[in-house]
Amino acid sequence: MSDLTRLSAAAMAELLAKGESSSVELTQAHLDRIEAVDGAVHAFLRTLPEVALAEARAADQARAAGEDLPALAGVPIAVKDVLATKGLATTCGSRILENWIPAYDATVVRKLRQARLPILGKTNMDEFAMGSSTEHSAYGPTHNPWDLERIPGGSGGGSAAAVGAFEAPLALGSDTGGSIRQPAAVTGTVGVKPTYGAVSRYGLVAMASSLDQVGPVARNVLDTAMLHAVIAGHDPKDMTSLNEPVPAVVEAARLGLAGDVKGLRVGIVRELGGEGFGQGVLGRFAEALRLLEDLGATTLEVSCPSFSSALGAYYLIMPSEASSNLARFDSIRYGLRVRPENGPATAESVMAATRAAGFGPEVKRRIILGTYALSAGYYDAYYGSAQKVRTLIQRDFENAWQDVDVLVSPTSPTTAFKLGEKLDDPLAMYLADVATIPVNLAGVPGISVPCGLAEDGLPVGFQIVAPARADAFLYQVGGALEAALVERWGGPLLERAPALPEGGRR
Ligand code: GLN
Repeated sequence: MSDLTRLSAAAMAELLAKGESSSVELTQAHLDRIEAVDGAVHAFLRTLPEVALAEARAADQARAAGEDLPALAGVPIAVKDVLATKGLATTCGSRILENWIPAYDATVVRKLRQARLPILGKTNMDEFAMGSSTEHSAYGPTHNPWDLERIPGGSGGGSAAAVGAFEAPLALGSDTGGSIRQPAAVTGTVGVKPTYGAVSRYGLVAMASSLDQVGPVARNVLDTAMLHAVIAGHDPKDMTSLNEPVPAVVEAARLGLAGDVKGLRVGIVRELGGEGFGQGVLGRFAEALRLLEDLGATTLEVSCPSFSSALGAYYLIMPSEASSNLARFDSIRYGLRVRPENGPATAESVMAATRAAGFGPEVKRRIILGTYALSAGYYDAYYGSAQKVRTLIQRDFENAWQDVDVLVSPTSPTTAFKLGEKLDDPLAMYLADVATIPVNLAGVPGISVPCGLAEDGLPVGFQIVAPARADAFLYQVGGALEAALVERWGGPLLERAPALPEGGRR
């Protein structure tokens, strides 16, 4: 029974289609796996056994009734707790939303329900998606399945760890500066940030609206493509939603898996691979490049000079937008309400007491940063300059696309660091996203694919970036790389992860 959890989502879908397993059986196997190992991993904030099994039963009944079902129907999934789930608590990893029960589903959640993917539970995350380690969750950190003493990345460490620990074959994440790709990189999973606007943001609790994007996490490229196809598409409820057909991502993944990347031009970003990048990371990255060359892709070095200012621009734009977005948590409309200890309970004093108690230190830091960057007298110098840098970064990408089809770099400069190691040093934590942030600033799509283990035995991620709307390239190149690597390794990388202790503490 537990072997079912080791299969890919595509293989699970095939079993269901052939009638060799049921969604109830698959869902129960994952709930059992969660029960056994999530005490040690803590990928989930909440599991939804009754909901998931009821959805699984409905999927099985629909199949039995001969309904024409989407490919992934009946395959269970985990959802980051930043996405609104109707009638089911959604906390964003924050105390301030501890008791918030949304009255509606995020569009992507609605799509999961329509496509009949049972939702196993809501995954842990840094509070309001601010962080790179999941340590900023108000509900305790998630642990990396490769080494429980290490971080699973962030902010979507819960989704990546759930997939990496075989607690779920698929998960949804959100990526504002790297929160899908960096956790995927450090857990040996695959994570995709689609083109800005490709997937609806309706019901995604906003962090920085011009950067946020929902995307898939899975254990291989084809599974992420299949999930991408489920969640993408136009949504009139999101005014930044692209109104055009979803690219043929599944077909692209299959092309890539068949090794078809001949003639593709791959640009290596010169600015992403120097100081701060670990030797093991650079070593695996270079080997992966040679595999792509062996398959007939051409590689050349490309310079993106403004990328070196991306982190600075991001840490002005993101907090500015976040400080404005998080103003809605005013103690009146949502979640927590705290009365002040002293003095009368006025609107202001209740709001102040609630925000003081409800937000964690990292969220407060960013609200203050953003409010400062937007304040009169500083706006042009900070927010205005950052927007100009954003334009320069977009131009770097535009220039690059003249010469190459995709750009590549390591996803994360290092492998998973130790829990606690960077918690008191925000700048060190921010550097984890140096390679992923330019992608959000330009609105282009990016994927992280595992490319081996560094000298410390921990996974390394290979990032592929494509022009806006060319998400299919991610899956083609990613698929080709994955197929070549799996052949070299004699099986998927995750098969080499150590066994997890069962029955650990919750
Ligand atoms: N780690 C980055 C940050 O802390 C990115 C977060 C994200 O993508 N949500 O802002």
